[in-house]
Amino acid sequence: MHEDKEILERIAGLFKKPIDQERIADAVRVILESIGEDPKREGLLRTPERVAKAYGELLSGYRTDPIELLNEAIFDVSYDEMVIVRDIEFYSLCEHHMLPFLGRAHVAYLPKGKVIGLSKIPRIVDMFARRLQVQERMTKQIADLVDELLHPKGVAVVVEGLHLCSVMRGVRKHDARMTTSSMSGAFRTNMPTRQEFLDNISRGAKPLQF
Ligand code: ZN
Repeated sequence: MHEDKEILERIAGLFKKPIDQERIADAVRVILESIGEDPKREGLLRTPERVAKAYGELLSGYRTDPIELLNEAIFDVSYDEMVIVRDIEFYSLCEHHMLPFLGRAHVAYLPKGKVIGLSKIPRIVDMFARRLQVQERMTKQIADLVDELLHPKGVAVVVEGLHLCSVMRGVRKHDARMTTSSMSGAFRTNMPTRQEFLDNISRGAKPLQF
């Protein structure tokens, strides 16, 4: 694990400086005034601090240390069947509007001597989702990190997202739902492997509801 530290931190894009909640609160006060609201009226009095706190949570993924997150969760095994974790719920903010997009991620890999604790895959998804994102990049970052951690025979990630910036603004409604994928190794070169994964994640799948 140690020799991978630098690579993991680079892939994980870790920020070391803490979030400046006071500045966020100041900026929210400016937004409130700019739209004509009165930041001093009772209902809004504590809103700037609440928003700052919410951003702290929603964007905590920049400060999730991948080394801490994954510590002692990688095991050497001879298991070589496909591992699939499907229907991982995620909540993110699009970097274009800072509005939510949410949905499900499905992650699979074909082990080559190493596996990762099952509960860690949703936490990897969470780490990348809790940032300002575009869905395409988030999908690839998840796949790249699993690839770097396990050096498996292949990684596949499919993400289905519903983008509120499209839904709420009433534009491009047909673009509101989006599916992105990132496949490597056997998932790219071996059709039966790819198909096994796609069949598995579509079994009993419900469309994203809103
Ligand atoms: Zn957007």
